[in-house]
Order: sequence, then C-alpha cells, then structure tokens
Amino acid sequence: MSYLVLARKWRPTNFKELVGQQHVVQTLSNAIATGRVHHAFLFTGCRGVGKTSAARILAKALNCEEGLSVNPCGKCTNCIEISEGSSPDVYEIDGASNTSVDNIRELRESVRYLPAKSRFKIYIIDEVHMLSTSAFNALLKTLEEPPPHVKFIFATTEPQKIPITILSRCQRFDFRRVPGSEMLARLTEMMQAEKINIGSDALRVIIRESQGSMRDAQSLLEQAIAFCGDDLSEERVIEAIGAVDRHYVEEALIGIVERKPERAIAAINYVYGAGHDLVDFTSLLAEQLRDLAVISAGLPMDQLERSESELATMRRLAQAAGPIDLQRFFSFISATIRELRNAPIPKLILDMAILRCSAVEHTNNLSAILNELRSIYAGAPVKPSVPDDYTIKAPPIAPMPAEKSMEQEPPKVIAKPELPKTKPAEIAVAVQPPLPPSPPSPPPPAAPELSAPASMPPEEEPPHPADSYILARESVAPPASPVEVPQKETAKEQFAPMPQAPALNPGQEGPSWADFVKQLNNYDPALAPVLEHAYLNAFTPDVIQLCFKGNDFYRSYLAAPEHMKKARDFAEKYFKHPIKIEIVNELSQNAEPPLCEQASAKAKNRLREMHQKAAGDARIKAVVEILDGSLESIKML
Ligand SMILES: [Zn+2]
Repeated sequence: MSYLVLARKWRPTNFKELVGQQHVVQTLSNAIATGRVHHAFLFTGCRGVGKTSAARILAKALNCEEGLSVNPCGKCTNCIEISEGSSPDVYEIDGASNTSVDNIRELRESVRYLPAKSRFKIYIIDEVHMLSTSAFNALLKTLEEPPPHVKFIFATTEPQKIPITILSRCQRFDFRRVPGSEMLARLTEMMQAEKINIGSDALRVIIRESQGSMRDAQSLLEQAIAFCGDDLSEERVIEAIGAVDRHYVEEALIGIVERKPERAIAAINYVYGAGHDLVDFTSLLAEQLRDLAVISAGLPMDQLERSESELATMRRLAQAAGPIDLQRFFSFISATIRELRNAPIPKLILDMAILRCSAVEHTNNLSAILNELRSIYAGAPVKPSVPDDYTIKAPPIAPMPAEKSMEQEPPKVIAKPELPKTKPAEIAVAVQPPLPPSPPSPPPPAAPELSAPASMPPEEEPPHPADSYILARESVAPPASPVEVPQKETAKEQFAPMPQAPALNPGQEGPSWADFVKQLNNYDPALAPVLEHAYLNAFTPDVIQLCFKGNDFYRSYLAAPEHMKKARDFAEKYFKHPIKIEIVNELSQNAEPPLCEQASAKAKNRLREMHQKAAGDARIKAVVEILDGSLESIKML
C-alpha cells in the first residue's frame, strides 16, 4: 500500500474539520462574523490538538479573496498559498528557533510595511513561549500599538511561560484534548476514505494511547498500518503500537473484584512477560477502578471510550464491588503505583497488592454494620474482662408510644441473658442497660428483669448516655490489660534481646554511635544509610570499627576512598580530633547490630505491643465479633 502521511494529508483545512474545539471555533466565528477581530490571539493546549491548523484556518478566514469569512473558500490564490505555506503575507515563525531579540526586531521592521496583496499581514508564531525575555519585550512594543493591517497568532503548549504583559494583550483560546467520541468519528472517516479495514475496537486502542492528541493518534495509526497493512484487528494494533492489552487490565480487575487472585496474577504474568512496564499497567488498572467508581456513583459515562461489551463487564463489576470496596481497591492500587517506581522487583509488589486487594472482605450491609458499631461505641456496658458478656443497648424507649416505636426500629440485641421470645417492648425493657444518671461510677450491670412490665416508669436518662458511659469507663474502670505499661519503658525492655551493646553512654548526652550516624545524615545523606547497615565492633574516641558481615554493597561503598575520606572528615569534626575508621571482616564478640536492624526490631516490638493492647480492648473485641472477622493488623500513625 502507498505510504501515507496521515497527519499532513488530513490536516483540517476549515473550521468544520477542526475536531474537538467547538468552543474555539464558535468564538472565532462570532468575531469574524461581526468584524470584531482582535489583533493578537494566543492558542494554548497540548500538542497535536489543532493549534497550528486553527491558526492557518484563521489566516485564510482573514485573507480569503472572497472576503472576511468564517468559511474561507479554500480555492482562491490566497487560501491555497496559505495552505501550502507560501503566502507572502502570512509568516509562520518557529518560536523555538527564532528566540532572539534580533529576530523580533526584524519582525517589527517588517510589520511597518503594508501586506503585499492581502487584507492583513499575519504572523503565526509557534512555540512562542521559547522567545527570550528581550524578544518578548521587543514584541510587546508592537503589540501595544499594532498597525491595523497586522494580526498575530501565537501558539504554545506552555502558556505559563509567557509574560503577563503579552498575555494581557492577546485574546486567549484554550484548546482541549480531543474527546474520544469525536476522535473516533474523525478517524473512522479517515480510514474509510483510505480504504483501510479497521474496527472501532482497534481505533479505541489508538485513541486511548493518544490521550487526546489528534496528531499522535494519526502517527500511531500510521505505525499500525505500516506494521499490519490495511487490515487492522485490535490485537494487531495493540502489538504494533506496543500498548498494554486492555483485556489483561480487565482480567486483573475481575480478579480483584471477584476475589479471584489467580486471574489477576495470570494477567500480570502475561503483561510482565510481554515486557510491558508494570507502572503503566498498574496506572491503567487504577484508571479502570476510577471508571468503575464513576459507574458505581451513577455519573454519566460518555467520557469512557469503551465498547459495549467492555461497558457491560464494567457495569457488572461496578455493581459487584460497590462504591466502598472500589475506593479501597483504588487506594491500594494507587499506593502501589508509587511503590512500584522505587521497587527493585516491581512484580513482587504488584502481585502482593493484588493478593491484598482480593483478600479485602466484601463490605456489604454497611449501614447495618455501622449502626451496630455506633451502638457499641455509644452505650454498651462493655465489661472489658468478660468479652462474651456484653449487651448492645437498644435505643431508649419513650414510655407511651413504646409499641409503635419498637415496630419501626426493633432493638438489636446481642445479649448473653437468655431472653424469652416475647413482645419487643418487653425485650427492650429487659436489656435496658443500667446507665447511671450521672457519670462518675457505673454500677455493675443489673440482672435483667425479664418480667418487668412495659409501662415501667422511665428513669430520667442523661441526654447523652453514650458520652457519660465512655467518660465513666475511662475514669473509673480502666481495662485490666496486661500490657498497660508506659510505652517508652516497654520499648526499652523489648530492646533487650539484641546482642549486648558496648557501653557508649546509651541514653546520655555525649557521643554515641546512633548520634554519630544521625548527625552524619545531615552532613552526608548518602553515607549515613550505609553506616546504618554496619555492625559496630567498636566506637571509641580513637577508632570506629565496622563490619558489614557479607554485605558487600555497603562495604565497598564505604571503602571507596572518596567516601572513606568523607566519613573520616566527619568523624574528625564530630570528635574534634582525627579518628580511625576501620572496616573488618570479623564481628567482635559484643558487636552492636546495625542501626537499621535495631530500628526495625524496635518497630516490630512496638507493633506487637499495640496489637496485644488492642486485642484486649473490649470494644475492639465487640467490633471484631460483629464484623465476624479477626484483628489482622495495627497501623502506627
Ligand atoms: Zn479563499
């Protein structure tokens, strides 16, 4: 087949063909129709969205021999010359290669002369943000007092780099990314005219990859045509342009939502094996989750450029997952993207993230669960030591319309005392928790009076029994948890299993290894982490002796003369006299483990301690029971 330069061949020649920029076209059309054409325009927007094309069309509209018109004829000499770039009155200047003040002085000189044969002299300056400051200043003079026969059209991808003095003298048009649906229509039209057989699914691949740039879409199409000939299937296009196959993203999504991690992992294996970037893949996954959330929230989906079958799958998944789980998945996956960027083996991170997502329990019946949780936190007489024996408080019952209110909202009872299945009102009375009218000391739960009549006179309740309960419990009855030791002390104790540290003023003022490394971190942030990985054989005012115990990476880093010199220089500053730093292969008997290990051991101990404490908390126990789960992990905040 013949070689195509689609982008050039299909460059829009009039405003009708300019895809996706109706807002621009509309305003320009109005200006031209009313004859009120500004003398300087600024077209901004990302690459390939039609800025330069629009500038040329505008030039034709201004200079068409058939008169100022929104629809230039395209046939007169002026129109043809502008299309070909040979009009003597339309100057296309590349801002990137004409940045100097001299270039602009030349321009100012030429501005003074009338156009050779057209209505206007038109200067199109592309990438105008590349001009130097002095060039901008020179340009400003012309913009301040433009001759009536001159028009400027500036185009830029980076409007923020243009001085405000220039901006304020231009009429600005922001070109947007071309919407998928409009791009699809235009590309379909092109492909039909070129007699290339390509389905809309394959075109959607191109459109997604082009991210709203028509020119990119055309280049990708060309690439695909060069690879596949004139019969392009979705698979072939994906292969040709090296896109991640959405099918695998969808598989991963199904794996997560339907808790079938094996499907997701298989998809990742494929994508990884095919040599795709896992960050790209994971970003697509996050994007899909966002789209599912959009669907789940019932928002319009016209921005989702997908085939009907894809949409059907997405609707099904959105329904299956529900908005809350989707949020959770999204936050896992988007955190994973950040982790992947620095991970030595990204695939492990992604696999683990997928497993984590598919282990997320369904959050069904959320409002019911929330209600139960609220009642626990609000007023249940929790007895920390006897977790099985708690009662969830029913809402206080008004004396008169008791029957009626109970019908509307029966109390939730998870009560130890065997309650006879009687009328709701009686049950409610039975489990009425014995809340004291005023905070300080709650009496132990009274034995439920099963036979109490429903019309029992209501006790005067405090307005917020919940608050008073919590107050009471915290001030009077702290849970008898075995790990209620102040945390600092515990941390130190837990620190003990480490091999014995040399006596280096631990915890006191003065030099210590930890302090040394900490201060080194300010001096040389690259070196300090290396020392954190060293075993400390000795740390005295004469010598620091380190052992890396087989950790060659860190050992050779420190051993490098320039790094060793830095370490010595710092040590000299620290001790105020020169000091030896030695690297040895043998651990001394009471070597101190590396600081990084100490830190992680400390953190682990602290977590363990928190876990124990949390597991002993009666309220957490109750929550765990309601959710029918277990206490998995505790996060340090
Ligand atoms: Zn014309």
